[in-house]
Amino acid sequence: MSKVWINGQLFDKSEAKVSVFDHGLLYGDGVFEGIRIYNGKPFRLREHIDRLFDSARHILLEIPLNREQLTQAVLDTVQVDAQQEGYIRLVVTRGPGTLGLDPNKCTNPQVIIIVDDITLYPAEFYEKGLRVLTASVIRNHPNALNPRIKSLNYLNNILARIEADRAGCQEAIMLNHNGEVAECTADNIFLVKHGVLRTPHLAAGILEGVTRNLILELARQAKIPVQEMALTRHDVLSADECFLTGTAAEVAPIVECDGRPIGNGKPGPITRQLRERYQQFVRQTPANASLV
Ligand code: PMP
Repeated sequence: MSKVWINGQLFDKSEAKVSVFDHGLLYGDGVFEGIRIYNGKPFRLREHIDRLFDSARHILLEIPLNREQLTQAVLDTVQVDAQQEGYIRLVVTRGPGTLGLDPNKCTNPQVIIIVDDITLYPAEFYEKGLRVLTASVIRNHPNALNPRIKSLNYLNNILARIEADRAGCQEAIMLNHNGEVAECTADNIFLVKHGVLRTPHLAAGILEGVTRNLILELARQAKIPVQEMALTRHDVLSADECFLTGTAAEVAPIVECDGRPIGNGKPGPITRQLRERYQQFVRQTPANASLV
C-alpha cells in the first residue's frame, strides 16, 4: 500500500496533503529525487541523498534533517510500504510562505517521501526501441537554472515532452544553449559509434544521472571505451546505436530520431549488453553497492 511520509508523519496516499501556500507549488521552489526500490531496498540511496543535498545547497534550501536522519526516514517508509519493487519520490519544498517570492518568509520546509508503484515504458519499447525528436525547447541555460540542480521546475522539459507526444514520439532530445545535445526530458542520453560509448559531458548542462554514472562504471568494467564529450545532433543521426538512461526507464534503446533511423533502426548489441548488465547489477547486488 502506498504511504507518504511528511515531516515525520505517515499518511495514506489520499490523506497526504501540503499547503496551497507552499512555494514548491506556487513557484516550483524546491528539489527532489526519484529512487528505485529493488529487492525491497532503495537503490543507490546514498547517491540520491547526496544529489538532493547538493541541489538544496545550491538553492540555499536548508533541509531540516541531516543525511543520516533523512536516509533513515526513507528506509523506514520503504519498510512500512513493504514493496519488493517500487519507486520513491523524495521532495523538499521551501514550505508555506506568503504570496510573494521571498524565500525568507518560508520558515518551515516540507520534507515529503512518497513510496509508490513504478510505471515503466511498455515492454515493446525495450524490445523495439523508442522514437524521439529533437525538441525546439532547449534545456535550461546553466546560468538561468543549472540542470545539475534537480529542482521542482520542469516546465521546459514538459514543453519538450509535449512536442514529442504531439509528434507521436515517446521522448525528446533537448539541446543546450550552444546547440549541443544535452539530455532527454527525464533521462540521460548515450550514443555508440564504432564501438565507443559516448555521452554528453556534465559541462553540456545536464543532470548528473545516477543511472548514467552506473552505466559508465559498467561500460568500463566491460572494457567498452567511453567518451564524455560535446555531442551534436549530427552525432545522434550518424550514431550506430543510441539509448537513454534513468532511474525509472533504466536503459531504453532509441531507434529513430526526427524520422530517421539510428543505425539499422533496431536496438544495437552494446545497448543490449549494457541493459543486461544493468538489470543484473540492480537485481543481484546489495543496495548501495559500488563496483569500485
Ligand atoms: N535527466 C533529467 C532531466 C532527469 O530528470 C533525470 C531523472 N529523472 C535523469 C536525467 C536521469 O537521472 P537518474 O539516472 O539519476 O534517474
